[in-house]
Amino acid sequence: MSKVAVITGATRGIGKQIALVLANQGYDVAINYRGEDNDLVSVKKEVEEMGRKIYLRECDVSDYESCEEFIKDVIAEFGNIDVLVNNAGITKDGLFLRMKKEDFESVIDVNLIGTFNMTRNVIPYMIKAKKGRIVSIASVVGISGNAGQTNYSASKAGIIGFTKSLAKEVASRNITVNAVAPGFIKTPMTDVLKDEVKEEMLKLIPLKRFGNPEDVANVVKFLVSEDSSYITGQVLHIDGGMLM
Ligand code: NDP
Repeated sequence: MSKVAVITGATRGIGKQIALVLANQGYDVAINYRGEDNDLVSVKKEVEEMGRKIYLRECDVSDYESCEEFIKDVIAEFGNIDVLVNNAGITKDGLFLRMKKEDFESVIDVNLIGTFNMTRNVIPYMIKAKKGRIVSIASVVGISGNAGQTNYSASKAGIIGFTKSLAKEVASRNITVNAVAPGFIKTPMTDVLKDEVKEEMLKLIPLKRFGNPEDVANVVKFLVSEDSSYITGQVLHIDGGMLM
């Protein structure tokens, strides 16, 4: 049976690169999408050109039933799930005094509850298989905090607590649960930031460059591989030394 990886939010940016790197490692991949304004067609083409299978289905990670159906369909299609990468995420930045309740809630719903929704539906299959790898994409601001991102930082700090607790619960089942904490990675999410903001961020990075999606995907590749089988409950920073 082929190895299978589910990657959320792989229609562009970091998730897309993770899907391509894992397909290149021999994984068949399952990807959810929401709309059509994305790179889905090119992801599908590239995965298939590598000789791997790709399963695509519309699914909003913040909707539990939608995740349940997505995962059931992945199992029907591929028979097993070896790897789950919780990558889908959004920002709705704003200073706290002006932050609307909807903006706080929607970021928590997608980033944190979405991570619960997918993991909750995948984990029974991993427990049955007595193996599995879960990697969630947190952020340095989930550790350091960041003005203007109370919602986003709370969601990412939540992912870190979630990761450590779940790692303790399922370690005896040979399932590892880890997170990565990227710093500033060049993707559509960060393209929208003003040049002044980017210049200030660059000053904070000892390696003096922004990260690429490949920098994150390669660490995820390591965390789902046999080489990392003794690592669980950890948060690996991928930030050019921004936070030490
Ligand atoms: P992008 O905005 O480029 O991509 C986000 C992806 O998530 C898209 O595929 C998007 O799909 C998907 N997505 C968003 N909301 C939902 C939802 N409700 N249901 C399903 N899919 C959804 O972001 P990045 O690639 O930059 O970020 C990926 C992850 O990395 C995020 O969790 C982000 O928080 C994290 N991160 C990014 C950093 C950076 O500097 N870029 C730094 C630290 C962490 P759609 O096309 O449908 O919108």
